[in-house]
Amino acid sequence: MTLMQLESFTAGQWVGPSGKTRKICSAVTGEEIAVAGSDGLDFQAMVDYAKQKGGPVLRAMTFHDRARMLKAVATYLNERREPLYELSYKTGATLADSKVDIDGGIGTMFVYASKGRREMPDGHIYPDGDLEVLSRNGTFLGQHYCTPLLGVAVHINAFNFPMWGMLEKLAPTLLAGVPAIVKPATSTSYLTEACVKLMVESGILPDGAIQLIMGGTGDLLDRLECQDVVSFTGSAKTASYLKSNDNILKNGVRFVAEQDSLNASVLGPDASPDTPEFDLFIKEASREITAKAGQKCTAIRRMMVPNERVKDVIAAMSARFDKTVIGDPAAEGTRMGALASLDQKRDVLEKAAEIATECELAYGDQDAVQLNGEGLANGAFVSPMLFHCKNPDTATIVHSTEAFGPVATVMGYRDLSHAIELMNKGGGSLVASVITYDPSVAQQLTMGAAAFHGRLYFNNRDSMKESTGHGSPLPHMVHGGPGRAGGGEELGGVRGVTHYMQRTAIQGSPDLLTAIGGTYVKGAKFIEPPAHPFTRTFNELQIGETVHTASRKVTLEDIEHFAHFTGDTFYAHMDEEAAAANPFFPGRVAHGYLLLSFAAGLFVEPNPGPVLANTGLNDLSFQKPVSAGDEVRVSLTVKRKTIRTDEYGEVRWHVNMFNQDDEQVAEYELLTMVAFERT
Ligand code: NDP
Repeated sequence: MTLMQLESFTAGQWVGPSGKTRKICSAVTGEEIAVAGSDGLDFQAMVDYAKQKGGPVLRAMTFHDRARMLKAVATYLNERREPLYELSYKTGATLADSKVDIDGGIGTMFVYASKGRREMPDGHIYPDGDLEVLSRNGTFLGQHYCTPLLGVAVHINAFNFPMWGMLEKLAPTLLAGVPAIVKPATSTSYLTEACVKLMVESGILPDGAIQLIMGGTGDLLDRLECQDVVSFTGSAKTASYLKSNDNILKNGVRFVAEQDSLNASVLGPDASPDTPEFDLFIKEASREITAKAGQKCTAIRRMMVPNERVKDVIAAMSARFDKTVIGDPAAEGTRMGALASLDQKRDVLEKAAEIATECELAYGDQDAVQLNGEGLANGAFVSPMLFHCKNPDTATIVHSTEAFGPVATVMGYRDLSHAIELMNKGGGSLVASVITYDPSVAQQLTMGAAAFHGRLYFNNRDSMKESTGHGSPLPHMVHGGPGRAGGGEELGGVRGVTHYMQRTAIQGSPDLLTAIGGTYVKGAKFIEPPAHPFTRTFNELQIGETVHTASRKVTLEDIEHFAHFTGDTFYAHMDEEAAAANPFFPGRVAHGYLLLSFAAGLFVEPNPGPVLANTGLNDLSFQKPVSAGDEVRVSLTVKRKTIRTDEYGEVRWHVNMFNQDDEQVAEYELLTMVAFERT
């Protein structure tokens, strides 16, 4: 069989292995299938290429442009998954495992594409949090803004998810506007290479947006500067070695680490064997231990169950493992494939042997495994192993050693505080799950354990049909954890994008902040529109255009009419004496909703025009009551514009209502959809 010659992609060129190379074997048969090596690559040229070619083009695009680019890449990959599944079998993954890796990675890109368009502005700068008023008269304000780092992101990935591992880092990086150099773990890098080849062939990504290293990183880390980021997934040992690189320390290069994790799953004290929660616990735990042959950073390593349930849990888990067919991942009936390499198999068996020094093996065999399929004698297969730890308070190895395979340990707890103590003994993890139907258990565990875990996953009979699984990091939610888990954070929606951006506190006058952020800031100068803004198309409207309406007197008849018409006869609007006794009101006052309706009546331009719909209202607040006899007027200002489709965009308006003394009585943000062209 000819060996795949894995190629790096550097400075726009595909470069094959040369010099010192590494052979890669099939996890299933043990035969050599590929060769990789990065000797001779010019790492400085890669960094320069990313910064000079990729970065400027990406930064010239808006968040929405980049989101559309991500969607196009994800769509391209999605239509070409079959050959990727074929390659993925060689990593030991079953089709179900590959779907987590391949479809999961593509799905993550789709989610970022959609979040980029829905949650980020169609601009180049991302506001973080609210405007801060730093002066009495509002002439000096502050706003936190994120801008893309002017460097390159170096992604060093683990062997277990050659596609998802790359795409979950790449999507937020590219959305931020930062180019990436990807270095996959060598043992499964052929799948990453195939995916990058597709992305490059698609022609969708700008030149320099992505480069690939098939082999070692040479002196790459010595060439990074303060605008660069290293995002690492793998062992704690490598993470600590890499982050203590002199150049990384000297230049304060951001280093995001996601590493070993002794994830726990807790069976709630309420979940006796006759409850749906007990079955759910067994099902989730056995699935997490055997999926991807336990090579998931989020896989369950420690199971905490009430002391009196230990026997039941071991029996139920063993029954499920008995039904797990292990073998050729491509063969009919196989439920669990191989570990990614013989090195991994050796490592898992060594770690299991360490755990066995303080725990009893309750299920599985450290030496043998029955296999489904032919020609598997040299494959990296192991049996699922379940240990029982009788003394979890004095044991140490079980709380500190991760066997990165289908290996877990059951331990009993006395009460909830003991369960919390055991959970936290892992020294920080990516995820802990709790299967309970009791809200007080969920509340106590959260307060006792959340600080030690990046994600807490509660599940029970109500959520089990739709829950996403203990082991699935979702692009919407934070992935990462404290302590042993590396102290890093990835994903988590737009948060994950900001890891590749600099958050800067920007202070200045309203006009300057409006210009910087492309969003109207209260106090900035108004622009007089040539016509009513509702007659102007999306493209014509400018940030700051304002219409100032005439005044309208509010009468007692208005209040009475509104009250009887809507049924809102709350005493503050109807009963002078009772209203006056309320500390908020001078007497009967107009309904807030009546004022909103008057506002619309004052600012609206009634004829058909580019404004298509009113889609919402945000941040409504009433500052002063309005009584019969008061007069109200409104100012309506274009605050922010966001393209939504090829035909229309969203316009957010800042609406202010004042009384006859120019005091503000109400304020809100109005959302409308406005056509690009007149219909
Ligand atoms: P490593 O830490 O050895 O490798 C992780 C990544 O770092 C790989 O891409 C590897 O490349 C790279 N790397 C290793 N050494 C260097 C170096 N000196 N300079 C630059 N890059 C380097 O982890 P493994 O993949 O071997 O897995 C070992 C253990 O890590 C597992 O058994 C498990 O315990 C843990 N792990 C945790 C994961 C998690 O998500 N929490 C995921 C995967 C593993 P190369 O492959 O070329 O050596």
